[in-house]
Amino acid sequence: MSARRAVGIDVGGTKIAALRLTSGGSVDTAKVFPTPASDQDAALPAIEAAISAVMDRDVVAIGIGMAGLIDVRGGVLLMTPNLVWRDLRLAEHVQATFDMPVTVDNDATAAAWAESRLGASREYDDSLFVGVGTGIGGGIVAGGRIVRGAHGLAGEIGHVIVEPDGPLCGCGNRGCWEQVASGLAIARAGAGVVEDHPNGAIARLADGDPERVTGELVTEAARAGDAVAGRILAEVGRRLGEGVAGLVNILDPEIVVIGGGAGEAGEVLLAPLRVAFTASLEGADVRPDVPIVPASLGNDAGAIGAGLLALDAVAG
Ligand SMILES: [Zn+2]
Repeated sequence: MSARRAVGIDVGGTKIAALRLTSGGSVDTAKVFPTPASDQDAALPAIEAAISAVMDRDVVAIGIGMAGLIDVRGGVLLMTPNLVWRDLRLAEHVQATFDMPVTVDNDATAAAWAESRLGASREYDDSLFVGVGTGIGGGIVAGGRIVRGAHGLAGEIGHVIVEPDGPLCGCGNRGCWEQVASGLAIARAGAGVVEDHPNGAIARLADGDPERVTGELVTEAARAGDAVAGRILAEVGRRLGEGVAGLVNILDPEIVVIGGGAGEAGEVLLAPLRVAFTASLEGADVRPDVPIVPASLGNDAGAIGAGLLALDAVAG
């Protein structure tokens, strides 16, 4: 059978994940590199170095996923809320360097496609992917196809304003959903309790330093039974559930897949999320059940999806 492979790249705020895969999704090489987040001139060389590190003779296409607004047709990163990079003509440059087709997509769209083809939503034609890490990204699959919108910009669910006077967001607005319901929100709330609860689990795990508190650290404390950490996750879970209910009201998917750190956090976050979801959804008692499940492809979902989209593009 066809042994054609793609290189899939996922450019995140701190890491660039690179892998090589077949159209069936079997991954044979995966590597991770740091992202030069505050240096636009270093962006392209870093991405090309990551591609070179997993390149092989049987590779026929390159797919790149990254957070932000992507001009999918032109393969241009227009802007990204959490890096300084702007107007980066990725497809044009990478295509010239490696002499093969290059696709560029939003990272959550890529992860949604990977979960839809090979992961938690593979049995469903209509799914919503909610990737909750530092921010919140979204990917919508309807009728077995990615919903891209008129300009390829659909799915920016993290930047719906839910608290007009809330914290300033990387996009320039205040109170976006990702500011109150992401790993960032968990870390911010956790840092806030370090001083008030110096003997609590969060303060202990962070050695008393609020700046060392991360979403993962608070999740770890909650899993160990710390009540303060549990309340923080319950509150963020509630905000997530309310937002997911709004999206299900609009999209009516068969399943919602929660990816990123929130998917990995498990029931400490997903249980309050489901309660708030059911309480906030219009007519929850008369609708078919919409399962809310953790993603199954883990941190590689974005790179796998980017690679699959690149192979789809060359297959026509
Ligand atoms: Zn925003």
